[in-house]
Amino acid sequence: MRLSQFHLRTEKETPAEAEIVSHKLMLKAGMIRKLAAGLYTWSPLGLRVLRKVEAVVREEMDRAGAIEMAMPSVQPKELWEETGRWAKFGPQLLKIRDRKEQEYCFTPTAEEAVTDFFRQEFSSYKQLPVNLYQITTKFRDEIRPRFGVMRAREFLMKDAYSFHIDEDSLRVEYRNMYDAYSRIFTRLGLKFRAVAADTGAIGGSASHEFQVLADSGEDALAYSDASDFAANVELAEAVAPGPRAAAGEPLREVATPTQKTCEDVAALLGIPLARTVKSVAVMGTGDDGAPQFTLALVRGDHVVNEIKLAKLPGLADYRLASEAEILEYLGCEPGFLGPLQPRRPIRVIADRTVAAMADFVVGANKPGFHLAGVNWGRDLPEPEVADIRNVVEGDPSPDGKGVLRMARGIEVGHVFALGRKYSEAMHCSVLDAAGKAVAPAMGCYGIGVSRIVAAAIEQNHDAAGIVWPPAMAPWRVVVCVINPKNDPAVTAAAEALYAELNAAGLDAALDDRGLRPGAMFADIELIGIPHRVVVSARGLDAGTFEYRARTASESEQLDRAALLEKLR
Ligand code: ATP
Ligand code: MG
Ligand code: MG
Ligand code: MG
Repeated sequence: MRLSQFHLRTEKETPAEAEIVSHKLMLKAGMIRKLAAGLYTWSPLGLRVLRKVEAVVREEMDRAGAIEMAMPSVQPKELWEETGRWAKFGPQLLKIRDRKEQEYCFTPTAEEAVTDFFRQEFSSYKQLPVNLYQITTKFRDEIRPRFGVMRAREFLMKDAYSFHIDEDSLRVEYRNMYDAYSRIFTRLGLKFRAVAADTGAIGGSASHEFQVLADSGEDALAYSDASDFAANVELAEAVAPGPRAAAGEPLREVATPTQKTCEDVAALLGIPLARTVKSVAVMGTGDDGAPQFTLALVRGDHVVNEIKLAKLPGLADYRLASEAEILEYLGCEPGFLGPLQPRRPIRVIADRTVAAMADFVVGANKPGFHLAGVNWGRDLPEPEVADIRNVVEGDPSPDGKGVLRMARGIEVGHVFALGRKYSEAMHCSVLDAAGKAVAPAMGCYGIGVSRIVAAAIEQNHDAAGIVWPPAMAPWRVVVCVINPKNDPAVTAAAEALYAELNAAGLDAALDDRGLRPGAMFADIELIGIPHRVVVSARGLDAGTFEYRARTASESEQLDRAALLEKLR
């Protein structure tokens, strides 16, 4: 690529609207431009990077035996009603209507569509196992799109779905995908960790997230320094118990007139049960007439813990939000908040302050009541995993091996063993070896292709800009021409080198824009090209090229052979 014929438009100023470094640098480098909230245009430069990531993902999926296909982005309501997700998916599902008033959604994920394809195309256990994948645009109407393409509304996802005659086969494929994901993130040059995860709105039994480690990450991770224990703290929140009453204390129902059932809470938030509610349920006004909100934590059929925000210690964990923001957060109509005074600021708990909850009664799952004196195990099921809500760095690991380390992560991939949830709901079956119709077990496997671009920058940057891991750099090397207009010999030598590098498959760009060296080098550093070669009259006289790795602080003078050696 000749940069004189490309579209490169970098900015000197750091954009004020961006909070985290990847968003800043992607805007500054001109990789993306905002069209509207959570909607981004990928510039020619940005798209080159996105395509590199996509290529690695595709190669490893193919290598792992998955088969690529493509499903529609717009999908009919009837399909989503078969699994109940038309109602249950919540406000993230963008619903649209066509001219005939038929309802559709823009696909946020494609379990329904792929199961529909499967039930039309597959009929026998002999055709299984099969893993079908696509790399397509997804849309989720995120409550708070932010950080550029990191949490966008429209984004590029690789989603794969596997079908199996039995659980053993599913386990094998789950492991196969787990390994493929490890190869993908390793090839992309990312520091990552696989952690046990909540199965969330997708459902299913086993689930792991692949987390790129970065301080700006939205997820909190705890892992042992001496074993394989690693979990998203969100998982612990999902299953952590409330307080344990003294042994022998009887279970009591306490009348609390504004108490809602967890079905109410789940319906309010538009989420299925068995998912953590890290948000607020509306409780009306408190004794002092001030608005009161409750944070509710739901597990299975129970509100396992709740807390009135007014009682929560550590005010630093609160932030002020407007009523409108809360309504949007809850996905509720104006007027829902009832007695609240309009536009009065209300405190909303931050998503990750569940750890601060302490000694409260649990919901009775009956309108108007709480439970007190709960003994976990006796009155409500024990949690399935260790409670790591309150752990700090250095605490013993729940598996008894080593101590816990805490880290922040960006979720870039997620693998799920789904079981038969979708195949059963959609009456999808194949004949087994005995000729009996059985619903296939399924797995699903997602990767946030566009999010990876931002996550990589969070890990790989310096004061001058992006430092791409080689596998996702827009070009591997750029040949910079000093004074292209005034010096035909320099231009000819640069052109020859550029042609030679590309012929050798080294993915070179030629910076023939005629910029002053300072401005040219600043751009090349900002956009993060791993190798830079400068062709100048002085170098030509000496028979050398000036070479500099993006990660090096000094340049070196190399002859042609030594240069080619470096670039390989
Ligand atoms: P998150 O917890 O970040 O909201 P998720 O768990 O809802 O993600 P999945 O349903 O597991 O997402 O989707 C698979 C992958 O798609 C995620 O691992 C993530 O990398 C990516 N992804 C999800 N939501 C977004 C988004 N709003 N913008 C960009 N990528 C996303
Ligand atoms: Mg999400
Ligand atoms: Mg998640
Ligand atoms: Mg996920």
